[in-house]
Amino acid sequence: MNLDILKTKYLFMPDATRGAVRYLTTKQLEETKTEALVTNTLHLLIHPGPDVIQKLGGIKKMMNWKGIVFTDSGGFQLFSLLHSKKWKGQVHENGATFLSPKEGNTYELTPETSIDIQMKMGSDVLVTLDDCRDAKISKKEASQSVERTVKWAKRCKEHFEKEYGGSEKTGKLLTCVVQGANYLDLRKECAKELVNIGFDGYNFGGYVVDEEGELVVDEMETVIENIPKDTIRYAMGVGKPEDILKASKIGYNLFDTVLVTRNARHGTVYTSEGTLRIKNKDMALDSRPVDPNCKCECCKNYSRAYIHHMFKSKEATALTLLTIHNLTYYQNLIASINSDN
Ligand SMILES: [Zn+2]
Repeated sequence: MNLDILKTKYLFMPDATRGAVRYLTTKQLEETKTEALVTNTLHLLIHPGPDVIQKLGGIKKMMNWKGIVFTDSGGFQLFSLLHSKKWKGQVHENGATFLSPKEGNTYELTPETSIDIQMKMGSDVLVTLDDCRDAKISKKEASQSVERTVKWAKRCKEHFEKEYGGSEKTGKLLTCVVQGANYLDLRKECAKELVNIGFDGYNFGGYVVDEEGELVVDEMETVIENIPKDTIRYAMGVGKPEDILKASKIGYNLFDTVLVTRNARHGTVYTSEGTLRIKNKDMALDSRPVDPNCKCECCKNYSRAYIHHMFKSKEATALTLLTIHNLTYYQNLIASINSDN
């Protein structure tokens, strides 16, 4: 598989959190011109588990997906769940020990196990375990998070090389996560130390928007200034269409957000004329397509009124069609960024 496009092209990667982009078949996903997707290690660790995925031939075989698969390390969700005490467990120098909220099983996520899990899943691009904290933390806490993130990234790389032969032998890429919260000097320090270790990509981690919902431009710029240009520059969790445009101008090239699919499920759609709420009463007799300028399966074949009716009747097909549309909108946005650059 040619993974070079991850370093040169702009790509939007939908979240296939549990190994599926919600409401879409893999064929429908391909038809939106999606080239890469992101799966969530933490959710797949809990169900069906990496051993099951490996026995079934890996996540790509399971999904019958021919594109690229990114796996996150599970750090972001796990650590935010543990720090906010929504999940039971402990973050420690070696990673985290936690209880699965459903089965009550105990899991241990360390730099080494996170690599092992991602390898069993058969991911193309792995992400190192990072110590993600809340958005508002003291400098001391942010500094500790940077220290651990760098230490764990190094352990991940060493394990990936020693145990699997690294990128050369596996053909896979290993990326890391830059932390440092909103402290520019810590962001810089984290980026520089990670560059010294050497990775195939440097992902912007932590919170990407501030309390007002504004993109953290200064932090993102600081990181970009301190990483090589010919690598993966993934702005994790970015985001709204306008934020993707901003982040791409700063120098990031990969993006993902749950908004695309989540908004579709809530009946909010992106169109060339702004956002549209399919639930609204004025859609009931609107015979126009969701977006007259879109050529997706939803817009080519159905009216707003029909989707409104299906949505109100809780027909899952409405959610499928709206997800197809929203994802197509994002992929068109990315295509326009690619053609402008
Ligand atoms: Zn459409």
